[in-house]
Amino acid sequence: MPESYRPHLRKDDEDERTVTQSIDTNVSTKHATVQNILDRKGGTVFSIRPQDTLHKAVEILRDQRIGALVVTDATGALQGILSERDIVRKLADAPGRTLPHKVEDIMTRDVVVATPDEPLVTVLQRMTKGRFRHMPVVASNELVGMITIGDVVQYRLNELEHEALQIKQLIVG
Ligand code: AMP
Repeated sequence: MPESYRPHLRKDDEDERTVTQSIDTNVSTKHATVQNILDRKGGTVFSIRPQDTLHKAVEILRDQRIGALVVTDATGALQGILSERDIVRKLADAPGRTLPHKVEDIMTRDVVVATPDEPLVTVLQRMTKGRFRHMPVVASNELVGMITIGDVVQYRLNELEHEALQIKQLIVG
């Protein structure tokens, strides 16, 4: 029987309800990307040079109220990442002699980066697996932002609130 002549069955309504509900409650999570976070927080990336001192680094971390800096050379190319955790470890190793050291002495050189179109769920997985809380965002070999695990959790919380509201509205009518 051609599709257009098929009688309407009760099962059709059930199928439709199921599909609609799953789209409403899941679609935003599935498609949320790094770019969604950058749209909210902007693309500012605080950086430091490899030859700068840890003293300069801690001042920037304090003044900008952030937990990590990307390390770039004079051309802007990514050389590493320096987080407050690296500095704390150095403080334990060399108490009273930490601040004059250079950034390049303790930075992490093998930086894991994200791309703007990457889904947030894979970013969270990589952060959890790698045990770090910061990820520089790179597009066409250029730094375009920095996201933290806090940004991702905040975004997800907002989504959950939004979804809860949608479900309440469905119930209340
Ligand atoms: P965090 O949790 O981000 O403060 O960093 C914990 C450790 O992971 C420090 O040694 C950082 O240098 C390093 N780290 C932070 N972010 C990254 C990243 N995106 N890729 C590689 N290492 C990182």
